[in-house]
Amino acid sequence: MEKITPLTLRHRFGLEIARKLRQEQIKEHPLRQLFWECTLRCNLHCRHCGSDCKKEAGFADMPLQDFLRVLDQVGERTDPHKVFVILTGGEPLVREDLEVCGRAIYERGFPWGMVTNGLYLTRDRLNRLRAAGLHTATVSLDGLEAEHNWMRGRPESFERALDAIRFLVEATDVIFDVVTCVNRRNIAQLEAIKQLLIDTGVKRWRVFTIFPTGRAAKDPALQLTGEEFRRVMEFIRTTRKEGHIQLSYGCEGFLGNYEGEVRDHLFFCQAGVVVGSVLIDGSISACPSIRADYHQGNIYQDNFMDVWEQRFQPYRDREWMRTGDCATCKYFRYCLGNGMHLRDGEGKLMFCHLKRLEE
Ligand code: SF4
Ligand code: SF4
Repeated sequence: MEKITPLTLRHRFGLEIARKLRQEQIKEHPLRQLFWECTLRCNLHCRHCGSDCKKEAGFADMPLQDFLRVLDQVGERTDPHKVFVILTGGEPLVREDLEVCGRAIYERGFPWGMVTNGLYLTRDRLNRLRAAGLHTATVSLDGLEAEHNWMRGRPESFERALDAIRFLVEATDVIFDVVTCVNRRNIAQLEAIKQLLIDTGVKRWRVFTIFPTGRAAKDPALQLTGEEFRRVMEFIRTTRKEGHIQLSYGCEGFLGNYEGEVRDHLFFCQAGVVVGSVLIDGSISACPSIRADYHQGNIYQDNFMDVWEQRFQPYRDREWMRTGDCATCKYFRYCLGNGMHLRDGEGKLMFCHLKRLEE
């Protein structure tokens, strides 16, 4: 197993090039992904859920017309074909008007996709969504049957998620991936999950690990040790070499010498640089994984594009993150203080991937 640090010359060289490209991208900050938290209602109660969703959410679903006004503002200043709209929640499929939403987004020229647990995805529903222009989907599968259902808190959730995946495999016009939250219960199953996905016809798979916040912070079964975390990285690296399925680690965390080997790109938190979001209460933020208040405006008071152009400085200049462990870290120039979702409301770092890998 290669050492995680110091960085090899090859890694350092790649990271320096990526750093230059990142600076360019920050300067231009073209909006490329726009998340819409269209509901907080959810049909599951997942152990690791980072969102504030409940079966009966405290907020009503956002009316479609409110979000369409945002899209019109975006469309006035940006080519809509270049901005990918991703519907998230809660669980987007609980919205009975999801097809209507999708069609309206599509008719304005924006490609769109959704993130779902698959529970409500029947073949008919998928066909209706495809007719409304659905381009991409992400479905969660958190283990084999017992482990997935344990995580998701509902006995039929595994079978239904797998059915959803099968329907998506058949629907060749929709690009989709499966996402798995790796934890202490399912880490031993990674090979078996991989085989299941390959046998089902899945082409793209993403795994992520849990950071200690919200519900997940109090659940030791969800937190990997340093040794387990390295096993996940080794598993990803080996799977990528085998080439039977495109596996990558989620977007968060600077990973030392695993950079460039477990993802298609080098670490760069793109929140607020190319990724924006509209949250359920109208808040304008960057990435729906960010739960602390890094909101920069609100669609009910502000023009989305004015906020995008003028107020996203904390995302585009991360010098303020040079505190705590990051203040003296020699990898700050590549990491910039980790993903924005790993900062609490006071700006403190909640988790360092590199530190965990080196434990
Ligand atoms: S200490 Fe901070 S800058 Fe260094 S690797 Fe960890 S999160 Fe990144
Ligand atoms: S905030 Fe976190 S999840 Fe969002 S883009 Fe940055 S690293 Fe990824």
